[in-house]
Amino acid sequence: MKLCRFDDDRIGLVRGRNVHDVSDILAALPPLRYPLPFGDQLIAHLERLRHRMERLADMAPPQPVDGVRLLSPVANPSKIIGTPVNYRAHVEEARRDPQISVFHGDKPRSIEEQGLFLKASSSLVGPSEGVAIRFADRRTDHEAELGVVIGRKTGPVAEADALNVVAGYAIALDMSVRGKEDRSFRKSPDTYAVLGPWLVTADEIGDPGALDFTLHVNGELRQAANTREMIIGIARQIFWASSVYTLYPGDIIMSGTCQGVAPVKPGDVMTVSFERIGEMTVAVR
Ligand code: MN
Repeated sequence: MKLCRFDDDRIGLVRGRNVHDVSDILAALPPLRYPLPFGDQLIAHLERLRHRMERLADMAPPQPVDGVRLLSPVANPSKIIGTPVNYRAHVEEARRDPQISVFHGDKPRSIEEQGLFLKASSSLVGPSEGVAIRFADRRTDHEAELGVVIGRKTGPVAEADALNVVAGYAIALDMSVRGKEDRSFRKSPDTYAVLGPWLVTADEIGDPGALDFTLHVNGELRQAANTREMIIGIARQIFWASSVYTLYPGDIIMSGTCQGVAPVKPGDVMTVSFERIGEMTVAVR
């Protein structure tokens, strides 16, 4: 199932090139009172509601997905977790390019030594909203990544069981200002986390460690890799993250980018494609 949020917070299922409005499903979510629970309530109840959503989609007239404004398929993540320098060829380019500044002149540190990082949830947008460059005089790079969406509240989980807590996958952009500040500062301006174009449920992805992906800027190929080239795979990232943080439905893991990171500027258009997910186009302003 491909789940999207579009236009004025409509909920849709994407079938082929069409979207079917299933927003009536929101009436099936439990009423909430203050204090609200962490996490995304639609993702939390997705497994229970998906058959009803499929039936609603059967009855809804199709409309071209190219004609709607796609928002992030997750509305309310409690957190966005980032995995740093997780592709070997990206480690090498970071070593060669001091502006990427992963190592700040120190000897290279492993992912485990660097730890995971967090991006502000308020940085999250969908592809139709675009990326607004925050520091015009600084370098802001695109980082195409596989986005992992957690499906249920999860305490420490074994690596062998970790993929069972995934609701689905989406394309992610971990936009990054280069410089020496903490990652949480450089990667959290508004619009610097893009998720889209929709969430593909885990059953339709199979192995998340075998997906080709590319990123083009203005039609020019910048990044191309396969998720099998990750240093730490998705299951191990979930195991690791869950040993530190309670994971909530809708939490997003941006699983690291491959080689080819490069700056974007206002007017550029990024197109990111992932095998088994689809393609999203994101404008820079
Ligand atoms: Mn990244």
